[in-house]
Amino acid sequence: MTDKRYVSMWKDGKWDEGKLVEDGTFQISECAGILHYCQEIFEGLKAYTWEDGSVVAFRPDLNAERMYDSAGRMEMPPFPKDRFLKAVDEVIKANLRWVPPYGSGATLYIRPLMFAYGNVIGVKPADEYMFRIFCTPVGPYYKGGAKPITICVSDFDRAAPHGTGDIKAGLNYAMSLHAHTVAHQNGFDENMFLDPQTRTFVEEAGGANFVFITKDGTLVTPKSNSILPSITRRSLVYLAENVLGMKVEHRPVRFDEVKDFAEAGLCGTAAVISPVGRIVAKDQTIDLPSGMGDMGPVLKKLYNTITGIQQGKIEGPEGWIRKIC
Ligand SMILES: *Cc1c(COP(=O)(O)O)cnc(C)c1O
Repeated sequence: MTDKRYVSMWKDGKWDEGKLVEDGTFQISECAGILHYCQEIFEGLKAYTWEDGSVVAFRPDLNAERMYDSAGRMEMPPFPKDRFLKAVDEVIKANLRWVPPYGSGATLYIRPLMFAYGNVIGVKPADEYMFRIFCTPVGPYYKGGAKPITICVSDFDRAAPHGTGDIKAGLNYAMSLHAHTVAHQNGFDENMFLDPQTRTFVEEAGGANFVFITKDGTLVTPKSNSILPSITRRSLVYLAENVLGMKVEHRPVRFDEVKDFAEAGLCGTAAVISPVGRIVAKDQTIDLPSGMGDMGPVLKKLYNTITGIQQGKIEGPEGWIRKIC
């Protein structure tokens, strides 16, 4: 729990002016829309301390934009993107003493969320919403280097075609928790979900997108309208193509191609890249050539580039870093 959080309420057809508050708790009615029809969306991003002491956020404009899109799909009032960015600034500034120091590998995780606050009992969108941003320091994801993980192909599905897989909504997680628990019970770190319609294409993990490297060094990322558009993945694709001069392909990826890749990884804000060493399906175990010892060389290069930009060691593309103070 940090010192301050931002709150704004949607009421009578508009967002109020919003403010920082100290209380991390609040009361809601038993009739609040969130508790019945699950109108809730969220975001996740990080703030970093640089060597010169400045504090920055990584591409928060894309979080603002994605949350705006998520709201539209959930029949919730979108929070204006410029106000989202200002609120992120305010929350970080009000909790500066919680931003971990440069070199610690730790960061300040920022969690914007919005949910149906107003009462509903008939099935319809609520007419009042709460938007909040809170933050919490998080430790380095890897203590002592990135260890490749073992994942399984899930028997469950994550998101239906034309469903809500491409928005960041809590409901996409509610129904994946069972798959997650089963995977853990069976000794796996994560799930690989396939497309529910044909079970032949790779979609994503519960909370991270896939990135693959072919034997000739091309970055391949799965394309589907039910994959969440990861900001980390989009950033890696841009860096691969424009900074590292790699070939990139964003296209449907058949599961039966996976055995031919040289490297595989999961990407998202939390870990940036988690190398995948082994993928277990019902009748097949795929051991990636990069092995279980370390991240493969190409993903490592991508990892070092993106984390270098986030930590201020490498100059990033125009507009990727928002200086907070
Ligand atoms: C948040 C999330 C990701 C990762 O997105 P980033 O913007 O890179 O953090 C991937 N998949 C799902 C389902 C997510 O909710």
